Amino acid sequence: MDLNVKEEILKRRTFAIISHPDAGKTTITEKLLYFGGAIRDAGTVKGKKSGKFATSDWMEIEKQRGISVTSSVMQFDFNDCRINILDTPGHQDFSEDTYRTLMAVDSAVMIIDVAKGIEVQTLKLFKVCRMRGIPIFTFINKLDRQGKEPLELMEELEEVLGIQSYAMNWPIGMGKEFLGIYDRFNNRIEQFRTEEKDRYLPLDEDGELAVDHSMKITSYYKEAMEDIKLLNEAGNEFDKDKIQNGELTPVFFGSALTNFGVQTFLETYLQFAPAPQPRITEDDQEVNPIDNDFSGFVFKIQANMNPAHRDRIAFVRIVSGKFERGMNITQTRTGKSIKVTQSTQFLADDRETVETAFAGDIIGLYDTGNYQIGDTVVGGKKNFLFEKLPQFTPELFMKVTAKNVMKSKHFHKGILQLVQEGAIQYYKTLHTEEVILGAVGQLQFEVFEHRMKNEYNVDVRMDSIGSKVARWIENEEDVKESMTGPRSMLVKDRYDRYVFLFENDFATRWFQDKYEHIKLFNLL
Ligand code: GDP
Repeated sequence: MDLNVKEEILKRRTFAIISHPDAGKTTITEKLLYFGGAIRDAGTVKGKKSGKFATSDWMEIEKQRGISVTSSVMQFDFNDCRINILDTPGHQDFSEDTYRTLMAVDSAVMIIDVAKGIEVQTLKLFKVCRMRGIPIFTFINKLDRQGKEPLELMEELEEVLGIQSYAMNWPIGMGKEFLGIYDRFNNRIEQFRTEEKDRYLPLDEDGELAVDHSMKITSYYKEAMEDIKLLNEAGNEFDKDKIQNGELTPVFFGSALTNFGVQTFLETYLQFAPAPQPRITEDDQEVNPIDNDFSGFVFKIQANMNPAHRDRIAFVRIVSGKFERGMNITQTRTGKSIKVTQSTQFLADDRETVETAFAGDIIGLYDTGNYQIGDTVVGGKKNFLFEKLPQFTPELFMKVTAKNVMKSKHFHKGILQLVQEGAIQYYKTLHTEEVILGAVGQLQFEVFEHRMKNEYNVDVRMDSIGSKVARWIENEEDVKESMTGPRSMLVKDRYDRYVFLFENDFATRWFQDKYEHIKLFNLL
């Protein structure tokens, strides 16, 4: 492979930030973009080429949560690395897309609010990362406010998430008494609210402050030192391999709002974050990022990004090689060859045409309906398919019908396409074949309704049947319809597999106790 191409690939770092809403993802992203020179100050996102500032920053857009807007990928350079941050929206926007985005990254940064600890959304996203075995880095945020004891938080990580943790640094005080962080990794103390030239204090051989400083006599310093001793003696050891395998998470403390600890985090993170990783094909072959031929897979399709154009963009994670605008690529599923003249890269809401991109990068391909979620695209002669993207267990269900029965043909066509695209999951009742849609987030239904109207000209009626616990069945032949009841509904999925929709966990357990021989399982 061309050495320059290899160099470009090896300097890529592609990750997602996972967190519960309000933990500080937007704030931290802004600081990261700021270090990377992509924005002038927090809140103003600049278009790279035009040099002008976008009128509304992506945080505002996210808050408005218009479905036509995306701010999916942000790219910037820092310390000789080319960084791609993939956005995983917060809870109102939560959808299967959010999960699938995690299939396109090589590591994840988990943000936790010091006062709240691990929250529902963090846990869900964490599980998907864990399943992939990707490295997970933890940033505990809002130390300028009073929160839980740091040791308690470390315990929570291990107990709730089941991952080992290693404190890279440790807070000295908290809230109004937040003095700074004891940086175990860089052997220094970083002082809060202190100018850069005075910010760092050295440590001596015993790990104590090496200089005379007023901090030394505070109880906060003493407490922190006691904790550090405990961590040194009884805590996990720093282990690079375990980090790489996602078994141990390095933990950082800081305050994104006051921009404290974020740079230290970024610098340290980049030393351990993996470069683009190989991906596996359906016949178990490994595709290496530095393979000569271009390849990638579609992990997200976004429609109506620009309401004026009614276009769709297929987001491709490049797995190997180099992409050049104008090149011919083959879509493996259909065998279709496509000349790519319209391709985009993203910075917040400002899109620009991309001429070249490399393994690790995300590009957007202009799509007139060719692509589906999970599609493989290749640039060389070798044709292969990447492993299927996982299907996720939906939690919300709606019964849908066309308001106007005369529109039933369009209705079914629209549903078929949107299901293929991965926008929503399809189920049907057993004999009446009524359509039931499943989603992991409410927004998916709103997008569905909007697109049915705008793209297929069908008004749909949606009746919520609420949240359900969906379970598939290993031994389908043993399932009987008589097993259903008011708290358990039996439906079929798009592949004609039986699925039980239980009212709640309690109903699931009750069923399982009664029919022990039925082997239930859930998707991710
Ligand atoms: P997101 O929903 O995870 O993107 O969270 P945001 O970045 O929008 O932050 C949620 C709220 O927490 C906002 O009001 C932020 O100003 C605030 N916030 C974020 N980081 C910090 C921090 O380090 N300290 C304090 N005190 N507030 C913070």
